[in-house]
Amino acid sequence: MSGIYIHIPFCNRRCSYCDFYLITNLNVTDKYLDSLKKEITLYASHYGNIKFNTIFFGGGTPSVLSHKKFEEIINLLYDNFDLSKDSEISMEANPEDFREKNLNDYGKAGINRISFGVQSFIDHELKFLTRQHTASEAELIIKKAGESFDNINLDIIYSLPSQTLKDIEFSLSKAVELKVNHISAYTLTYEERTPLYKSLQKNLLVKNTENDEGDFYNFVSGKLRSEGYVHYEVSNFAKEGYQCIHNLKYWEYGGYIGFGPSSHSMIDGVRWNNFRDIIRYNNMLSEGILPVEEKSSLTSGQKKLEYIMLALRSRGVDFEKYYELFGNSFKTEYTCSVKELLKHGFAKNTERKFYLTDKGYSIADEIIAKYF
Ligand code: SF4
Repeated sequence: MSGIYIHIPFCNRRCSYCDFYLITNLNVTDKYLDSLKKEITLYASHYGNIKFNTIFFGGGTPSVLSHKKFEEIINLLYDNFDLSKDSEISMEANPEDFREKNLNDYGKAGINRISFGVQSFIDHELKFLTRQHTASEAELIIKKAGESFDNINLDIIYSLPSQTLKDIEFSLSKAVELKVNHISAYTLTYEERTPLYKSLQKNLLVKNTENDEGDFYNFVSGKLRSEGYVHYEVSNFAKEGYQCIHNLKYWEYGGYIGFGPSSHSMIDGVRWNNFRDIIRYNNMLSEGILPVEEKSSLTSGQKKLEYIMLALRSRGVDFEKYYELFGNSFKTEYTCSVKELLKHGFAKNTERKFYLTDKGYSIADEIIAKYF
């Protein structure tokens, strides 16, 4: 089954490290939602026959919208697509948006998985990241969310300048204590065009070395595994049964349609993306034109590489699926790479799968570049 991604490109303010496509003018949300609805109905005529079982509201910060807006969009999606009744419906959210809003209302609107951009439980780290909530505020909201949702993710960012293992341990322990079933833990990245990157260029801060990052990564993975979380993608950890079904579609080569500016889609090996510009997006849809910037079909070589790359970063290459997709045996095609990776303890084999070990996970990108 396939997934639906909805991009909500609004935030109250841009964080210093963020380069997602978004705007901070919240006065245009209604106009945007009209365009979004148009885009959804235009696609329905093409893809009404595909079965879907996930909706993911990402951003930006979807929680800047009221629960009523979610209800409208979810209903529209159900009216226009073959969406299973028990679909996973996720929403990204920022703690500060729930100072006044009621989380329960979002549950009633159809959201059944909530992903909080918490990033840290240490106030000075939140300040450094220019986040708008405090640690105690996040804690309170997450506890409240636990009353309405059992499927909760926390995003955590680590490897901040001068951060210690003790600091990382503190935030992770707090997340575990709050009994959330999913944790996404990312290293801080310095994306060009962000204020954080500019500070780095001006030597106003010092980036951790690759060795430090490797140590932090191993620490985070070890800690979360020891707390009973399954490490099912390079940066993602979940209690058994709580893996994000939507994100697994990206990582396991499933189909997905993205709506909204900057969103990406892939159905049957055809990939396309929308313009990263809300004005253009609105204008095109007001004329009944799909706001697609680029569309391409992957060659079989590209498909293969992409499948392997995604699979190795998550739950591994599934031999049967590989054969189904490409008509060849993975083990025969990559005999040398497989042997080398097994020999060095970077990977393991089962009857059904070839997957990276923790040692391999920590250098997944290098392995993929070198061996495939
Ligand atoms: S809240 Fe999230 S999406 Fe918005 S600016 Fe910050 S990091 Fe980016």
